[in-house]
Amino acid sequence: MTRTYQLAVIGGDGIGPDVTRAALDGVQAAAEHFGFAVETTGFDLGADAYLRTGVALDEGTTERLRAHDAILLGAVGDPRVTPGVLERGLIVALRVAFRQSVNIRPVRLYPGVTSPVTAVTPDNCDLVIIRENTEGLYTGGGSTTHPGTANAVATQTSITTVQATTEAVEFAFRLAAARRKKLTLCHKTNILTHAGQLWQDVVDEVGARFPDVDRDYVHADAMCQHLPLDPGRFDVVVTDNLFGDIISDLGATVQGGLGLAASANHNPAGTAPSMFEPVHGSAPDIAGTGWANPAAAALSAALCLATLGERDAALALEASAASVLAELPALAGPRMGATTAELGRRIADRVADVDPAKIGDPGRSLMSALAGLAPTGRR
Ligand code: NAD
Repeated sequence: MTRTYQLAVIGGDGIGPDVTRAALDGVQAAAEHFGFAVETTGFDLGADAYLRTGVALDEGTTERLRAHDAILLGAVGDPRVTPGVLERGLIVALRVAFRQSVNIRPVRLYPGVTSPVTAVTPDNCDLVIIRENTEGLYTGGGSTTHPGTANAVATQTSITTVQATTEAVEFAFRLAAARRKKLTLCHKTNILTHAGQLWQDVVDEVGARFPDVDRDYVHADAMCQHLPLDPGRFDVVVTDNLFGDIISDLGATVQGGLGLAASANHNPAGTAPSMFEPVHGSAPDIAGTGWANPAAAALSAALCLATLGERDAALALEASAASVLAELPALAGPRMGATTAELGRRIADRVADVDPAKIGDPGRSLMSALAGLAPTGRR
């Protein structure tokens, strides 16, 4: 019987629906070529739905999403909605509800793409940032006393638990073991002594079970220097929510820009669907123009296929997106020379021509490693 995956699709706001449609073209082409089926269900979530209903995400919708194998998300955020309402009320809420405790953010410079940093080449830039996705300063706890006055006092609480830290660290070690066998903890243990010690303790404890994986430590501020100047020293970097948010945007710049940066909000145990989204936002400044680059969305969809265990389809979609990127005269705007939809079709057309056995070093690639770690619980 044909393997069939149920994919929930949240196009969202701004350029989100366009890049998601383009990415889905590639997913369907990969499914056809590699002998499985993907059924999609669209979900009307984002700014318009929120302005209509006053609710970013309700319980019934959460449960309908839960019934899917994975979720593809475009982007949310709209100038008509107070910043944070959709980002927290939808994305952060889904990350927590579906225990997507691991955020996977590859930083890879594809051949033919130019990094704005001259020291970065495809040979030295292939790392993965694993960001704890549910805790730290993002839990939202805090208070403001005397708001709006000269006596205002704001607190913002950061939470770090052994459980969530262990989930992220364990996944990072498993990934490193399947790749180049090096794990770097990125934190600020010299200043954030309590949370930092907990992270270091967890890395030491879990690391003892992975004696083949070399361990390294880098402060988050020093990371901002090492990542652009010497990305080759990193294989898998594990870090907390806030540091991961910041250094992975730096990684996006290093790898050529936001239009190329992919991410996965992953539930490593497979107890609920994982969610895949480009790192970029809804880009209101270019929404509706057709000039958004769909590569980040297509590469996020490739991560989705990989975590579903569809290794060859994931490698083919990644390689197709990378080969289309390599030919573009510019990575965003009209100078790309093709619209979002045209680029989506171009990526999809190429999928059938890719021979996964001939793609770089598929044995060590992120897609292969993720497929090897695909959770089996739900299927
Ligand atoms: P953004 O990523 O939307 O845009 C930043 C710049 O990059 C813009 O100039 C935009 O035109 C360009 N850009 C982004 N994606 C592109 C693509 N695929 N191709 C070509 N150019 C691209 O960030 P922003 O402007 O700070 O945020 C806009 C909205 O998106 C805000 O409401 C923000 O909160 C939200 N946001 C959402 C997410 C998400 O849904 N995960 C992530 C980041 C920001």
